[in-house]
Amino acid sequence: MENTETEKRPLDFIRQIIAGDLSSGKHEQSVTRFPPEPNGFLHIGHAKSICLNFGVAVENGGICNLRFDDTNPSKEDIAYVDSIKEDVKWLGFDWGKQVHYASDYFDKLYELAILLIKKNKAFVCELSPEQMREYRGTLTTPGKDSPYRNRSVAENLEMFEAMKKGDFAEGSHVLRAKIDMASPNLNLRDPIIYRILKATHHRTGDQWQIYPMYDYTHCLSDMLEGVTHSLCTLEFQDHRPLYNWVLETLETPCHPRQIEFSRLNLTYTVMSKRKLLQMVEGNYVSGWDDPRMLTLSGLRRRGYTPASIRNFCATIGIGKSDSRISMGVLENEIRSDLNVHAERRMCVLDPVKVIIDNYPDDLIEEVVGKNHPQNPDKGVRSLPFSKELYIERNDFMEEPPKKYHRLGPDREVRLRYGYLVQYVSHVKDESSGEILEIHCTYDPESKGGSAPDGRKVKGTIHWVSAAKGLPVTINMYDRLFKVEDPEADKDIDFLDQLNPDSQVVLSHAIAEPSLAEMKPGDNIQFERQGYFCLDTVAPTKDGKLVFNRTVTLRDSWEKRK
Ligand code: ATP
Ligand code: MG
Repeated sequence: MENTETEKRPLDFIRQIIAGDLSSGKHEQSVTRFPPEPNGFLHIGHAKSICLNFGVAVENGGICNLRFDDTNPSKEDIAYVDSIKEDVKWLGFDWGKQVHYASDYFDKLYELAILLIKKNKAFVCELSPEQMREYRGTLTTPGKDSPYRNRSVAENLEMFEAMKKGDFAEGSHVLRAKIDMASPNLNLRDPIIYRILKATHHRTGDQWQIYPMYDYTHCLSDMLEGVTHSLCTLEFQDHRPLYNWVLETLETPCHPRQIEFSRLNLTYTVMSKRKLLQMVEGNYVSGWDDPRMLTLSGLRRRGYTPASIRNFCATIGIGKSDSRISMGVLENEIRSDLNVHAERRMCVLDPVKVIIDNYPDDLIEEVVGKNHPQNPDKGVRSLPFSKELYIERNDFMEEPPKKYHRLGPDREVRLRYGYLVQYVSHVKDESSGEILEIHCTYDPESKGGSAPDGRKVKGTIHWVSAAKGLPVTINMYDRLFKVEDPEADKDIDFLDQLNPDSQVVLSHAIAEPSLAEMKPGDNIQFERQGYFCLDTVAPTKDGKLVFNRTVTLRDSWEKRK
């Protein structure tokens, strides 16, 4: 993999800790893991965690596991497992020979729960969920011991076995760790570690009627995999004492160190999978991979490259304070990547016809265009030039101001790679005011775009041959939300903050014919218009290719505010 920015930067605090543990000999090799729950598609926030966990392994010759934290069968699905694997691979990371699943450890976790019971550190509780809440206390008042807390070890073993066999109804019994109901940390007030759930699991089927809870599962899965550094987001800081309690109480041979870092939040979007799912299920977007979604599959379809996302993660770094990163930072990363890598083409998004009166009727000439202005290795292509062309409607003005260097009465303009053309007349629909066609003459001596007599022609505009152009459909995507923080105002539903103009479909665009050779997913710059990507989903019903706008050429958004 192309190693991006990380090498040039000072180590973040997590990488410093790991480097210290390797140089002191505490660990011979770092073992990290990325532990998604398969209940949705990955988003850009997950990319931060992936780039950290897998990045550490790449940088130190360590190991990073991909582990599905699949302990909640009612919300999980194999389709999510597949999409997550695809996204991690696409980002450029390798999880080695095998994918891990928390469900691989269900037997082991059950055995360890029995051990906890035998150590008199866990008990079966029959309080209802409401009672449980009541007994739990609050941040300022201690909780109360459950009346079931002092069952004998033998009784607990028997009842836990009965829970496993399916003898009890869902919600009627749970297994709880016996820690401290007066602890100032609510997570330590006898947390639930197993619950009854009569759901079919996407991997273990109907084998289990009880499922371990996240906190219990996570530390033990880390331990079973020999994880050295368990890196997670800040909301788990208060869970760390429980993480450590489980490992210490079970006297496990290995004790991974949990270290927390801040989550990624971005302006103009929401990040939680629950909210993304709400947008998908409510048809506010076309799916998890809608190009406006900040999911990795959405970004991919939008035209973001893996390198741009890795660079973005390196740019924002790893820290401990929560903040909302400007969407402009992400957009700048894809711009700088595509500026170097994307070839240039011409495409007229909103066409108006130009007729060159003195150009031969049937002649079609080939003119040559550079594929990249700075990189000659990207070669050239030929473009058909003909009597009738399309230019951008906004490249013509009937009464242009002085600084307008495009086409208008009495103006001469350069058709990029083509000829210099001089305005003659235009035809307008008087009732609507719409310009129907513009007549020009061309200077036959100016092929390629330079004036034979050296006269100055300031404006250069793009164009496409009307005879040979390729009609395409363009999705002009913009930010999905109108406001920087759609979650800021708790009284407003985030769905009411959607940007109604986040997708504008242009169905009259015409592109130069070479675009027919592009492959789905290819990135391109349409000169003067922005970066686009050929959609990976089928062409529109009329058979036209569909291009998605990845990003504008410059950061025009900041100015619009
Ligand atoms: P969400 O809140 O979006 O539903 P999650 O934390 O429930 O996300 P998981 O599947 O549990 O999603 O996450 C897998 C890993 O990715 C976890 O280690 C989690 O901390 C990390 N992660 C999730 N969201 C972010 C984020 N916005 N920034 C950084 N890391 C994240
Ligand atoms: Mg989660």
